[in-house]
Amino acid sequence: MPTVVTLTNLGWRTAHFLKTARRQYDNPYGQHRQLKLDKISGLWPSRTSMNEFGNSFLHYVTDRPYIDRDDLLVVGKKSAEAARPFLAEWEKLGLISFLTANRRLSALADEIKTASLQNPLRIVKGVVVELTGLCNLNCRHCLKGGSHPEEYGLPAETIAEALKPLLRAGINEIEFTGGEVTLRQNDLFTLIDFVKDYLLLEHERPFKLGEMFDDLFITHNGTVKDPKEFLLRLLPFPGIRLQVSLDTLDPASMEMNRQRPGLFARVMYLAILSQQLGFPKHRVSFVLNSALREPDKDWEADFCAPFRQRLGMFPYIIQLGNAVKNGLPHTDHFYCGIPQPLGFADLSPGKPNMCGWCHGYVKPKEIYIRPTGSVGNCPYAYGLPEEFGSLSDRPMAEILNNLQRSLPYQLFTTGAIAEAAGQMDSTAFPGPFASSCEPIVLAHCYVQLFRRYQAAGDNEVIARAKATLETARRYKYPVGKYAEQEIR
Ligand code: SF4
Repeated sequence: MPTVVTLTNLGWRTAHFLKTARRQYDNPYGQHRQLKLDKISGLWPSRTSMNEFGNSFLHYVTDRPYIDRDDLLVVGKKSAEAARPFLAEWEKLGLISFLTANRRLSALADEIKTASLQNPLRIVKGVVVELTGLCNLNCRHCLKGGSHPEEYGLPAETIAEALKPLLRAGINEIEFTGGEVTLRQNDLFTLIDFVKDYLLLEHERPFKLGEMFDDLFITHNGTVKDPKEFLLRLLPFPGIRLQVSLDTLDPASMEMNRQRPGLFARVMYLAILSQQLGFPKHRVSFVLNSALREPDKDWEADFCAPFRQRLGMFPYIIQLGNAVKNGLPHTDHFYCGIPQPLGFADLSPGKPNMCGWCHGYVKPKEIYIRPTGSVGNCPYAYGLPEEFGSLSDRPMAEILNNLQRSLPYQLFTTGAIAEAAGQMDSTAFPGPFASSCEPIVLAHCYVQLFRRYQAAGDNEVIARAKATLETARRYKYPVGKYAEQEIR
């Protein structure tokens, strides 16, 4: 029986990237595409290996897979001969796997086609590296609940290694964030130095409508110890975007929210200094994370409305972490045109992303690398006991190629989340919620914990109460009637 070479999740994404690089990076003379491919080829055993991989699977991603009769078949290519010398290295990179063609080839072709369409990495385009869980602020709105002193973060070499398969697959956005990313400044610069070699940044590829450039940005909180030294260290890395949060244009409100006197002035100083040092204007941008004005009604009038007009969006507060603990107001406005507020009962796979269901656990757009080594897909999901996998157990390629077997994927494809949401005691997590992310993440955390407690021998009632208590703790909801002593 012939052996068939098929693409893994990552292999599919990599082949797709090689195929579409022309469209994404081309200018009339093809220079940018060449430059991008030159860069990426540094992640392959050789340029020939990369080219042959692209050639071998050129039709795999779009057309019906072509399977020819041979003792070795490369799907999408009539002859396996040119690919044969590279198969071992492609397998080592986690790009291909082998299967025995023990059924009709046409049935196999259909299976491969279906698997391609369902590949969870189809739309992944970026990575967010949470370099550390440490933070030197304790913002009132912080969805993570502030600093996590036990989460220093992974070694820079581990992160670089984890990024390689994704860079090889052509992701074009990398963000370094925290906690507060500048608390690990040396590691931050080591990583920037590493990834810049594989991204086509704006200075190398000026923006042209319809074409893409890659994006590398650092999100920080403006407290960097020596702003001048920091900016001077950044200068040799053109094309990086700095992102710092400025919650409101009112210094007193911002400093009340961030609980750090003088922070507004520091952020402004950093912005002005960066321009004086020759950073292009766009490199310090101000993110309107949230807006916190007292009383609430002034907030809408003074702050949200002008920005909604100017930016077509407006800030909202995610009701997790410190936002819950500090009792910040719900923002039951319209977000992305979808009526709010949401509750647990609103979750439904039949509704679009932003008002019902999240597809990120099944088809993530971004991959998150957390300080703990956990690999996930969403900033709010930090409290989950289990995500796609952990870099402390397995390399990134293995995690991504087995994403369909991960607990989050299973829970979302079997409908267990909807069930959990129906069974939760919603009085423990009073909505309404500003975004569907909130009830989804709470239900998700709850169902994982519930299963763990049941597996550990708790009866259903106790397991439910414990799961509610622990979910509430992780996301800073008051534990109230679920206090530990009552469960025991
Ligand atoms: S919002 Fe950002 S800066 Fe503020 S406490 Fe949380 S991690 Fe730190």
